[in-house]
Amino acid sequence: MTSRSTRQRTLQALLSTGLIALASGCGGTASDKATATLDDAQMENPARTHEKPRLVLQITVDQFRGDLPTRYADRLGEGGLRYLLEEGIHYNNAHHGHANTETIVGHVTLATGFDRKTGVTTYNIEDRDEHLLTEGADVDAATEIDPTQKAATSDGRSPRAILTTTFSDELASLTAGRAKIFGVSVKDRGAVSMAGHTGKAFWFSKATNQFVTSSYYYDEYPRWIVDWNARKIPESYANTAWKLLHPIDTYLFGKQDDQEWEAELGSYGRTFPHEFTTPENPYFSTFLTISPAGDEITTDFAKTLIAEEGLGDDDVTDYLGVSYSATDYIGHFFGPSSLESEDNILQLDRTLADLFAYVDQEIGLENTLIVLSADHGGPEAPGYLNKLGIPADYVSPDEWDKDPVIAQVKSKFGIRGQMIEGYDHPYLSVLCDPEHFVGTRDGSRQRIDASGP
Ligand SMILES: [Zn+2]
Repeated sequence: MTSRSTRQRTLQALLSTGLIALASGCGGTASDKATATLDDAQMENPARTHEKPRLVLQITVDQFRGDLPTRYADRLGEGGLRYLLEEGIHYNNAHHGHANTETIVGHVTLATGFDRKTGVTTYNIEDRDEHLLTEGADVDAATEIDPTQKAATSDGRSPRAILTTTFSDELASLTAGRAKIFGVSVKDRGAVSMAGHTGKAFWFSKATNQFVTSSYYYDEYPRWIVDWNARKIPESYANTAWKLLHPIDTYLFGKQDDQEWEAELGSYGRTFPHEFTTPENPYFSTFLTISPAGDEITTDFAKTLIAEEGLGDDDVTDYLGVSYSATDYIGHFFGPSSLESEDNILQLDRTLADLFAYVDQEIGLENTLIVLSADHGGPEAPGYLNKLGIPADYVSPDEWDKDPVIAQVKSKFGIRGQMIEGYDHPYLSVLCDPEHFVGTRDGSRQRIDASGP
């Protein structure tokens, strides 16, 4: 991996993944390019020509829509997003080429560089014979060693559904398996995808407030993970709250904290401060993940992993994928244009600065290639748009069965009762129970097989 051509190949593999931001600590000049193609001028950037890094740190920020890295640019601190934007290369018009803007699809695209033929096209992988066979990971109960995951409706976690190699897989192949490869996220799919087939993945169990893995990766937990979990860092947030980083009147959305379209989850409420309550509350860990705390906890675990596994401690390039989930949960609950989202991004910026400072201390930013992208964006809440005078509404698949067009189809085929069972993009589930088919106009019974895409 010492030749220039090999370095280029590695970098091009990274660049082909639709990056929003890319940086290394090599002191590259700021650049703002609308495309992801290399030209001579770009190749002059030290971020592209520096000797091989000791660590590739691929960060995915879940639902970090394209406008969000710079929307609050004037309020960013030092050493976090500003470091990437000013010292690295920022692609502000990068696109993923897949249909479903969902976490597992976006992550696999980022992990592999493929936007097709990865085998992971949707969150729920449909099977024509076994309905909802798996939820983007694995279904083999035997692979799961964590009791809380055993109880999940989709058992076990592994990259078995990924049909192609990931960047981390190629790195493992290139280094005869010597590269140390890890993926970390609150979400299982955020970690499994980045670790690929060759790395190790850890994700956060909301049931136990612990980082867990599966027997695909380990027969038993490494000691340092047991020790990290024993420190009960998530529990240290008990009886605290998500509070604004700055005075409320300094925020763009400072006068719009309480909005009727924001979701309200029990005592968590729609306005600051959002109380985490205590671990005895079954929603405690969920509250943590709908706040900057989820990313802080993930970062603490990632920092411990870097130290305990010795990432970047020799001349073989290692890989760490860190996927931050808070942006996505907060986007779902409060919308991307909300006081919660605004504060979370400012706090994420501080969390990134904390991670980068640690990497600088342990490995050196000059030895680290940092890549940051979103897995997908997120639409505005219809209520937010309505308030601005823009017509928008939620889709209601439950209502589609009553649509005049569907009524005509049902009439044509003599279908009584419900026809559309559900919608999980891009799949439309249509009931095929023969009981619903009473005959066509010529008197014969017919059955339509509408399963699958
Ligand atoms: Zn996502």
